[in-house]
Amino acid sequence: MARSEVLVLGAGMVGVSCAAHLQKRGISTTLLDRRGAGEETSHGNAGQIESSRMLPIAFPHSLREIARHALGLAPESNFHWSAIPGLVPFLLRYWAASGERQLIATARALRPMLAVSPEEHEALAALAGTPQLIRRKGWLKIFRTGAGLEATSGDRALADEYGVPYTILTREEVLALEPHLRPEFQHGVFWPGTGSSPNPGALTKSYAALFEKLGGVFVRGDARSLHEYEGGFRVETEAGPVDAKRVVIALGPWSMDVARKFGVRAPFAYKRGYHMHFAPAGNATLERAVLDIEGGYMIAPMDRGIRLSTGVEFADRDAPPTPVQLERTLPDARKLFPLGEALDAKPWVGSRPAIADSLPVIGPSPKNPNVICALGHAHLGFTLGPPTGRLVADLIEGKKPFVDAGPFRAERF
Ligand SMILES: Cc1cc2nc3c(=O)[nH]c(=O)nc-3n(C[C@H](O)[C@H](O)[C@H](O)COP(=O)(O)OP(=O)(O)OC[C@H]3O[C@@H](n4cnc5c(N)ncnc54)[C@H](O)[C@@H]3O)c2cc1C
Repeated sequence: MARSEVLVLGAGMVGVSCAAHLQKRGISTTLLDRRGAGEETSHGNAGQIESSRMLPIAFPHSLREIARHALGLAPESNFHWSAIPGLVPFLLRYWAASGERQLIATARALRPMLAVSPEEHEALAALAGTPQLIRRKGWLKIFRTGAGLEATSGDRALADEYGVPYTILTREEVLALEPHLRPEFQHGVFWPGTGSSPNPGALTKSYAALFEKLGGVFVRGDARSLHEYEGGFRVETEAGPVDAKRVVIALGPWSMDVARKFGVRAPFAYKRGYHMHFAPAGNATLERAVLDIEGGYMIAPMDRGIRLSTGVEFADRDAPPTPVQLERTLPDARKLFPLGEALDAKPWVGSRPAIADSLPVIGPSPKNPNVICALGHAHLGFTLGPPTGRLVADLIEGKKPFVDAGPFRAERF
């Protein structure tokens, strides 16, 4: 039987960042996953370190917009109708959290964590010896219409208030930045602060390797075997039982499988998404990710090729994949950038672990203060892994948290 101070469940970007921060502070930590580190959601995302994300992605409020999504006319979304009855409580709360005032409050709560995310990543990557897995080239949002640009003015108003840099670009200025794009759009906005990784899974693995280099122990096992034991906790692993005084739940889309037992009642849903890689045609190159908001997709340069990723699909976590959003968006993506042959045999699918108010749960569980949640990061878990790790380590050490953890507490539901 092995013993450590803290047991971190889940080795995605959130879990490995928690484990690395804890071990770095001399707190003996075991990290558990049923597979290797960074092989699920933290592998398949679009790789953006979105320090310049302002307003969260909202549930539409106008009837016209709701109808557009419901009728399958919005390329950025898809629904499995069979999942909708179970989703109603989540969707009602998501709708309520998507009013203008609430979105601004959410943006303000997340801002301190988002603002430090590139530096927090760079610090871990430097220690891990993988600085090449982080790039600082910003990202581009393109707009096909003036109305599309105007619809995002709330983001820029908030960015002005916080001093987050951006530049509105003409089509020609966008093409000067990314010469291989085709002029399928009218405007662009360049956000220079956004970082990215050309290989999100490898970056996550490198933080797990850093954790082990610092003396942490990585084990394979099923987190659902966690139970209270002799005043602490025990989990069964391939290497035998592991005991710990405290537990961190960082199981991404699987978090509620364990968190529910400890009284976490957050309205949780799976915002699934897909990706597929393509070779750039000819000598075409792409320096940074390009988000086509009206087209409902993003293209990002990765080690493997150009990663085309989709918006949100509301479905059961384990339902068979239905990559209709890739089919819908691929023609537009091909028009925007010369994509060559597909490099993957089939699309990747994963689930953003989403909470209805678009804020993660970070902090003690309602039933047991020694169970710490680090879950529900939705669209921003790759970005927010390292700052979440710092915050969790502050909470476990009993230090003043480096940001206000109040908005993230589990008891808000
Ligand atoms: C298409 C798409 C694009 C995205 N783009 C971005 C982006 O550009 N930027 C950004 O910041 N975020 C992005 N995200 C969101 C981001 O990927 C997630 O928020 C983040 O990866 C969640 O990290 P995590 O560590 O919480 O979960 P995960 O990475 O899913 O890790 C959870 C871990 O728990 C393990 N696990 C689960 N159940 C068990 C069990 N019973 N026992 C043991 N282990 C278990 C899994 O094996 C896994 O390793 C995107 C998501 C998608 C789907």
